[in-house]
Amino acid sequence: METLITCKRCRDRVPVSELKSDSKATGWVCHTCYAKEHNLISPAPTAKPAFKVPINQSYVCDFCKHKFNSAFKQKLCPNCGERDALRPAGGSGAGLIWEVEDLI
Ligand SMILES: [Zn+2]
Ligand SMILES: [Zn+2]
Repeated sequence: METLITCKRCRDRVPVSELKSDSKATGWVCHTCYAKEHNLISPAPTAKPAFKVPINQSYVCDFCKHKFNSAFKQKLCPNCGERDALRPAGGSGAGLIWEVEDLI
């Protein structure tokens, strides 16, 4: 018959062959406690870092009515080359903010 030793953590009586030295090597723990201590059981899922996607803003040229999308603030119409004829299309508040910016 195998010798039973008390696990330091859960106080279960486990056979010597199932015992493991704990992380600090100060005593003996059973296989289950050992796995818990070393995060072998259900490791926490690693959270994916939030990935920021640049917002694609729609623009329309007041001069030639050309429409396009850009993630960056545009000043020059890529179609007719007209300056300051662009305004954000689709968005409601975006155009207002831009007009205020231009006045400053
Ligand atoms: Zn244990
Ligand atoms: Zn244009």
